[in-house]
Amino acid sequence: MLRWGKIERGSTISVSCCSAHPVTQAHLSEVVASAGTTFTPAHHAKKAPVSETADTLVVGTISTGNPAAPTAEAMAISGGKIIGIGSLADLEGLTNASTTTVKPEGIVIPGLIEPHMHMWTSLLNLTWTDVSKEACDTFDDVVATIKQTAAKTPDGQWVLGKLFDPSLYPGEPDLTRTILDQVSPNNPVMVMNASMHYLYVNSPAMVAAGVTDQTMDPPGGTFGRADGKLTGIIGEAGAMMVFAGKLPKPTQADIASGITTILNECARQGVTSLREAATGTLAGVSELAMLHQLNGAQRLPVRMSTAQFAMMAGKTPDEVAATWKEAGVTPFSGDEMVRADAWKVVTDGSNQGRSGYFFQPYLGEDNGGHANWTPEGLRGAITPGLRDGWQIMVHTNGDAAVEFALTAMEDLLPGFGTNDLRHRFEHVSFTTDDQLTRMAKAGISPSFLMNHVFYWGAAFRDTILGPERANRLDRVASAYAAGLRPSLHSDYNVSKVHPLLSARTAVLRQLQADGSVLNPAECATPEQALTAITTGAAWQIHADDRGSLEVGKRADYAVVSEDPWTSDAAGWDKITVNETYIDGTLAFSA
Ligand SMILES: [Zn+2]
Repeated sequence: MLRWGKIERGSTISVSCCSAHPVTQAHLSEVVASAGTTFTPAHHAKKAPVSETADTLVVGTISTGNPAAPTAEAMAISGGKIIGIGSLADLEGLTNASTTTVKPEGIVIPGLIEPHMHMWTSLLNLTWTDVSKEACDTFDDVVATIKQTAAKTPDGQWVLGKLFDPSLYPGEPDLTRTILDQVSPNNPVMVMNASMHYLYVNSPAMVAAGVTDQTMDPPGGTFGRADGKLTGIIGEAGAMMVFAGKLPKPTQADIASGITTILNECARQGVTSLREAATGTLAGVSELAMLHQLNGAQRLPVRMSTAQFAMMAGKTPDEVAATWKEAGVTPFSGDEMVRADAWKVVTDGSNQGRSGYFFQPYLGEDNGGHANWTPEGLRGAITPGLRDGWQIMVHTNGDAAVEFALTAMEDLLPGFGTNDLRHRFEHVSFTTDDQLTRMAKAGISPSFLMNHVFYWGAAFRDTILGPERANRLDRVASAYAAGLRPSLHSDYNVSKVHPLLSARTAVLRQLQADGSVLNPAECATPEQALTAITTGAAWQIHADDRGSLEVGKRADYAVVSEDPWTSDAAGWDKITVNETYIDGTLAFSA
């Protein structure tokens, strides 16, 4: 049995959740690029003006998310904005005969905010079969699920799986060629590891890719072998590309429908605004052009805030910054549905993939990962963003990565004035007290990938990092205590977009693996956790007009089965969403 963490790493190509994988990038980039680079404002952005009389009166049980006035029985909306919220009597003067009264079936809550997800990279494998731990409780389930997909696939066509994570199963089992040949002898099978650093393929896939026992390893990758025979375990981009290059290419219609599918799934979890955390990784500025085109044709189901990625193939960060600027993509450009808001830099890799950067080695290994940059390189990637006035978002996973990026920001920020751009560190998975204090002083807020605790907490504790470090995972309570304004995110498709599950985990810190609690001292209060998926997250994406239902804010709301502000956090993940509204008009219906 090969332990995946021990497979020889064949290249220096560093990929993480926050960057497009070169293997699958080629499949979408051409098609998206055909969208061009011109931005057309959406016509539906022209709504009726806000007046003193409500066009819509929402009557029912309303949980506002505003601690000063947590409940209401009615909300008056005009031109997409809230002009009154409170008791029916309070709002009497705001309605007339032309006001439409609606009575939603459920509790009205503020639309939830997803402050860090990846739409473009997730599109790449949207239709592949999910063999994540969440979908497949045991390794046998993984094998059975692939077998079921193969049974439904005509002979000769590819069977594709995604999000397989051996680190979550006892003994870290691999999907070998032998296993996959038994699963499907007549179809090429390819399953991607959740870290996106490995593929698992069977013999027909080897034939399709023209790879034999005699084929040399390509630059930047490894065809896994045992006793000279291919094992089916394909490591790193250089080798993975050989297989991925054989997959059928999507059409522009496929991509458009994929975007709609992903955004509707976000809306299904009550999300009305999200931050796409690495825009431009596949097709540069064309990605924004495509979003504006789609939104122009039919309003998107979720508002999108984009973080422009500091890296494009063959360009320095300075050249990337110039590319965005030349296309008219400047801070806060766009419209109320698709707006460019941030500059994204990635410091290290993934902790569960053992490529996060730590002060101390991983358990059983002699190194603690590394940064993707030299200190000068990181400063060179952040500086164009600061110079052009962007909010900076820096991916930092291990404690040494937090230190590396924090030192850079502490050095650079004084040179760029005192603008409140609400700079952010992403994941900030493992921190020291000192780092949280310094982040508060530097004005850098954390966004936590909270599902790290739920899904990988036990693996961090038992096999990857050990209990001391695992206790320092996602320190929401300490972040609040340090005066920070944290948010919670999914990093979709690292985990699914489900803000209420993230908030539940922030309160309970319960591990999916054994139900135990990972460091109760870091449990957030229910109010803190809900703030981190509403007003706190809205603040982090520069959307102060969202996140709670208050006069002057946008009428972005969800109609749900139960009020999270008054119900037990243990049940939050079971709350269902009937409808979402953007600017008071229906955006999604279950
Ligand atoms: Zn990310």
